[in-house]
Parts: sequence; structure tokens; C-alpha cells
Amino acid sequence: MAKEVSLTGRCLCGAVRFKGTASEPKVAACHCSMCRRWSSGPYFEVSCEDVAFEGEDNITKIRSSEWAERAFCKRCGSNLFYRLIDSDEFQVSAGLLDDQSGLKLSLQVFIDEKPPFYTLANRTETMTAAEVYAAFAPAPD
Ligand SMILES: [Zn+2]
Ligand SMILES: [Zn+2]
Repeated sequence: MAKEVSLTGRCLCGAVRFKGTASEPKVAACHCSMCRRWSSGPYFEVSCEDVAFEGEDNITKIRSSEWAERAFCKRCGSNLFYRLIDSDEFQVSAGLLDDQSGLKLSLQVFIDEKPPFYTLANRTETMTAAEVYAAFAPAPD
């Protein structure tokens, strides 16, 4: 059964704070080249809904692809979230969360783009790039 949890977090400098709700305290890691260029390593994210930000003036958003945007704190550079345009769901950076004790890494995506210099030991589900696109690509209309 899904257990909904409330989450709070902040960027490194504290200029941006947020709270939100996660249907389950699950973490996904993305190994794609964009996330690694953005984060230096895999991007660990928690899907949050009902997200409310404080210090929104300090958020800079960049359109990183046709379908998604990424946001960071313009004062300290902390990565804040990845979001599909027009989605209510924010893939919040797991590192921002104040309490990470209940989080569980459950999924690794773009596993076929992971560089060979690291491997996560956690037992998780994995998806290749092709599997991700097949699962999440909007149906042609
Ligand atoms: Zn900041
Ligand atoms: Zn990625």
C-alpha cells in the first residue's frame, strides 16, 4: 500500500525552500548524460506533488528539452528539480530533503548511459533509454 509522506527541503544557501507530498518515499536515479552534466553524478530524485516554494524569486528555470525544464537556485547553484512541462509533478533533487532517512532507491533509469567508472550496489529496477522513451513518450496524436 502506498504511504504518502510530507517532505520539506532547501537549497544549499537556504534562499529556496519547499514542501511537498510524495506518494511513496522512493528515489529514482537517472544516469543520462544530461543529468550527469548537470549534477556531476547520477541525478537522484523524488517525485513530489503539491509542491510549494518559498523564495521563488531565486529560482532560475532552464528549458532543457522540448518536454522538460530544470531549475536551480540562482544564488548558490543547487539543483532543485526536473519537471515535465505542464506537469504537476516535480522530480525534486533528493539531496535537498531535510529528512532522507526514510528514502529508498528503487529505480535507475538510462542505465545504458551510465559511464563505467561507478556502479550503484543497491538492488533496484532498471530501465534503458529506449524503455524510458517507450514508457513516457506522449502518444502521437
Ligand atoms: Zn540557494
Ligand atoms: Zn537524466
